[in-house]
Amino acid sequence: MEAAAEPGNLAGVQHIILVLSGKGGVGKSTISTQLALALRHAGKKVGILDVDLCGPSIPRMLQSQGRAVHQCDSGWVPVFVDQEQSVSLMSVGFLLEKPDEAVVWRGPKKNALIKQFVSDVAWGELDYLVVDTPPGTSDEHMATVEALRPYRPLGALVVTTPQAVSVGDVRRELTFCRKTGLRVMGVVENMSGFTCPHCMECTSIFSSGGGEELARHAGVPFLGSVPLDPELTRSLEEGRDFIQEFPKSPAFPALT
Ligand code: ADP
Repeated sequence: MEAAAEPGNLAGVQHIILVLSGKGGVGKSTISTQLALALRHAGKKVGILDVDLCGPSIPRMLQSQGRAVHQCDSGWVPVFVDQEQSVSLMSVGFLLEKPDEAVVWRGPKKNALIKQFVSDVAWGELDYLVVDTPPGTSDEHMATVEALRPYRPLGALVVTTPQAVSVGDVRRELTFCRKTGLRVMGVVENMSGFTCPHCMECTSIFSSGGGEELARHAGVPFLGSVPLDPELTRSLEEGRDFIQEFPKSPAFPALT
C-alpha cells in the first residue's frame, strides 16, 4: 500500500465529476461506469476513481477484477480497462488480496486511503475524472471533497431512483453539496420503469417522475431517466460495453 506522495498527479486532469447517491443500490456505480464509457465513445480520456471503499463494484463492472496496480516514480499507475488506454481505473478492489475480501476499516484509515488515492495515482492527461463515492453523506465524502477541492472546482452528479424514499435521501445529498460548495451538475433518475423488450411499453415499477420533480424543486438540472434494462444488468455482470452493444436500448439515450 506504500506509494510515494507526489503533488501534481491531478495536474493533467481537466474536470472532476463526483457521482453521489442518497443510498446504496440505486445505480450509482452503474451510472459512473456508463458515464465514463460514454465519454470515451465521445473521444475523451477518462479516469475513474472508485472511493466506494466498502463496496468496490467497478472493477467487476469493467471486467478488471484481479488486475494489479503497479508503481511508478510518481505513485500508483491506474489500471487501463480498454485496449486504447482511454479509460483508467483506481479502486481499493485492486489492493485487496482476495476480490471478495471485506474492507473493515475505521474512518481514519479510510480517510487516509482516500487522501492517498487523490495524491498518489498517476493519472496523466485526462479530460475527465469520474469519482464513484459511497452511498450517503459520510466521513469519506468529506475526505474526498477536502482532498480534491484544492485542485479543481468539483461537479456533482446525483443519482436517484424515482420513489419518494430515495428522493428523500437525495434531498440530503443536495444539502451536502450546498454545504460543501459542490456545483450540482444535475440529477439522474435511474430504474425509471421497465420497458418490455417485446412490445416496448414502459411500466413504472416504482412511482415515476420523482427525480425530475426533485430537480425542479431544488433548482438544479434534470439530466434524464434511465429505465431498467436486463441487458444493462447482464453487460455489467459480464463487463461488456453496453453503450457500444445496445444502441437501441431505451436506456441508451439517457446514458449517452
Ligand atoms: P450502487 O452503486 O448505487 O450501489 P449499482 O450501480 O451497483 O448501485 O447497481 C445495483 C444493481 O442494479 C447492479 O447489479 C446493476 O447492474 C443494476 N442496475 C443499476 N441500474 C440498472 C438499470 N438501469 N437497468 C438494469 N440494471 C441496473
